[in-house]
Amino acid sequence: IISIRGLTKAYGTFTVLHGIDLDIAEGEVVCVIGPSGSGKSTLIRCINHLEPFSADSTITVDGIRVAPGKALAKVRAEVGMVFQSFNLFPHMTVLKNVMLAPMRVRGTVKADAERKARDLLARVGIGEQAEKFPAQLSGGQQQRVAIARALAMEPRVLLFDEPTSSLDPEMVGEVLDVMRKLAGTGVTMIIVTHEMGFARQVADRVIFMDSGRLVEAGTPEQIFDSPRQERTRSFLRAVL
Ligand code: ATP
Ligand code: MG
Repeated sequence: IISIRGLTKAYGTFTVLHGIDLDIAEGEVVCVIGPSGSGKSTLIRCINHLEPFSADSTITVDGIRVAPGKALAKVRAEVGMVFQSFNLFPHMTVLKNVMLAPMRVRGTVKADAERKARDLLARVGIGEQAEKFPAQLSGGQQQRVAIARALAMEPRVLLFDEPTSSLDPEMVGEVLDVMRKLAGTGVTMIIVTHEMGFARQVADRVIFMDSGRLVEAGTPEQIFDSPRQERTRSFLRAVL
C-alpha cells in the first residue's frame, strides 16, 4: 500500500535521508527503531508530506503519488498520524476532537460523527471521558483520544511517532494495549518506537535505521535474535 523509492531529504546541506527504498504491504505492522537523529521521524513524516522531500524521490500511498497539490488531501485522508505530544485541540471536548475531521474533511453529518466518535472512544477505553477537555485527562487517556481521532477518518494507514515516549511509565501499557488491538484489525501501521518488547510482539517487520539509512529489516526474530549488521547489534546491545 506504500511504496518509497530513493527517498532523499536534506535540510540545507545536511542530508537526513539517503535514498530509502521501502515497500509496505496492506495490513502490515512495521516498527521503526534506531538511534536518536537517525531519521525515523523524518521518514514517516515524508509519507504524508508533513516534510517535503527531494523531487527525484517517489512515495506512493494506495497508488497516489505523494506530492504537493490536489492529490495530497486524498493521501492525508488515507493516512492518520499519532504524535508523541498528542496535539489535541485544547478548547474542544474529547468528543468534539474526535468528531471534527470527519465532519470537516469527509462531510459526515453531526449525528453520524458523534455516534462514530462515541464508539471509538469506547473502543479505546475512555467512553466516559467524552465531555471532558483534554487538559482534564491523563497523558495515557489523551493519547488514546488522539488514536480515536486518527481512527475517526477510517484511514488505511496509521503512522505513530513514539506514541508512548512522553507518557509516565504507568500509562505506557494502556496505550500499547490499544495499539496491540488495532494491529489485529487490518489497518496498516508504521510505528516509530523505543519499546522493543512491543515491537517484538506486535511487528510483522522491524526496520533498523541509522544515519539516514535503512540498515536492516526483517522479522522481529531476525532483527532482535540474529541481526546481521554490526551496527544493529551494537544498537540493540545498548538498548536491550
Ligand atoms: P529521535 O529518536 O530523537 O526522535 P529521529 O530518528 O526521529 O530521532 P529525526 O527527527 O528524523 O530523527 O531527525 C533526523 C536528523 O535531521 C537529525 O540529525 C536532526 O537533527 C535533523 N533535523 C530534524 N529536523 C530538522 C530541521 N527542521 N532542521 C534541520 N535539521 C533537522
Ligand atoms: Mg523522532
